[in-house]
Amino acid sequence: MVDLHIHTSFSPDSNIAPERACRAAYARGLKIIGFADHVEFLPEDGAYVDLYDGAKILAEIERLRERYRDKLEILYGAEVGFIPGKESQIKDFLDSQPLDYAVGSVHYVDGVLVSKWVRERELAGKGFAPYFEIVLAAAESGLFQVLGHLDYIRKYLFAPQEYGREDYEGMVDRILESAAKQGLVIELNTSGWRHATGEPYPGEKILKRFAQLGRGLTGGVTGVTGVAGGVTVTVGSDAHKDYEVGYGNERARRLLQRAGFGSVEVFRVRRRFSFPL
Ligand SMILES: [Zn+2]
Ligand SMILES: [Zn+2]
Repeated sequence: MVDLHIHTSFSPDSNIAPERACRAAYARGLKIIGFADHVEFLPEDGAYVDLYDGAKILAEIERLRERYRDKLEILYGAEVGFIPGKESQIKDFLDSQPLDYAVGSVHYVDGVLVSKWVRERELAGKGFAPYFEIVLAAAESGLFQVLGHLDYIRKYLFAPQEYGREDYEGMVDRILESAAKQGLVIELNTSGWRHATGEPYPGEKILKRFAQLGRGLTGGVTGVTGVAGGVTVTVGSDAHKDYEVGYGNERARRLLQRAGFGSVEVFRVRRRFSFPL
């Protein structure tokens, strides 16, 4: 299996030494991993783009590629925090780095960290549409290969099962349609299985809906294997601890197969390849 969402000690909120991530991944039977360290576009964030040292990360990846040759494929990714209005800055960054892929994620709404924003909205009895608007903008920006943890606002809710997800179904559909049209890969982020919400981001219902869109686009179930229709998925653990590398991988495989997917996607120098489930 694969895990394209690992934070190493190059992310301010993780202390997994890159070599340790490789050891954990190899021990757990993963075939392909991707380092997806944080890059943010607000100066107050600890992962602000000006602090990013891509050359250092790539040098370490190259050393590990040598060390793990024939054992483990190591991809160079980044998790980029999408902020509306910062598209050209994000594009300049992406153009300047020899990344295998970029995961686009929403970590801020109106300048407030999603963790804080969600709890304030929940306590005030306000909805979460502004978050999904930004996820849609991230999808439509065309900047990313992978769309990260689509509905991860559930992570921070006191009552994650009652947040009124049906209110956002229309918006989620628009996000999925945008992804399907462009071939933007939707991430199944397994970290939700270790949070109070107990379900990955996104959950089975959204994944099935996405697979269904593939059938609609291509007129056949083959459309969901990742070959046609652009309805494609990948898997990431969002590991910030070494023991989280590959977390929930087998469960993810079963969930994706149930939803109708035959493969997950990986990227080498931003070219997409399918990895059979
Ligand atoms: Zn994230
Ligand atoms: Zn992450």
